[in-house]
Amino acid sequence: MAGEPQADCLFCKIVAGEVPATIVRETETAVAFRDINPQAPTHVLVIPKVHFPDAASLAAGAPEVAADILRVAGEVAEKEDVTGSGYRIVFNTGAGAGQTVFHAHAHLLGGRGFNWPPG
Ligand code: C5P
Repeated sequence: MAGEPQADCLFCKIVAGEVPATIVRETETAVAFRDINPQAPTHVLVIPKVHFPDAASLAAGAPEVAADILRVAGEVAEKEDVTGSGYRIVFNTGAGAGQTVFHAHAHLLGGRGFNWPPG
């Protein structure tokens, strides 16, 4: 069923506490943890506790949770003190765009300058 945990999903395992992660914030609907391969001084992933393969399917299936992901990303940005310099929220969607884990997640990146267009 949509939203149910998937046995072979790494991020469902992080939600379940079966795979370790450095959690910086947790709410009823979301978990935020440090990316193991950080691309900026602050690089935190914000994921829904429910399983959807990408941001668009999350927004369609559980819009209130999709909104929570953005809210939590903003709260983490405040806590990490990157709001003044600016930060980026990225949802890679599809392998061609660099998505490697098919459980919806926002990358919160901050603490350095960013180029546009992104690579
Ligand atoms: O957008 P994409 O799907 O590529 O992002 C997945 C992210 O999950 C990567 O930045 C990777 O470093 C991170 N990751 C992690 N902890 C793991 C496995 C992957 O933070 N155990």
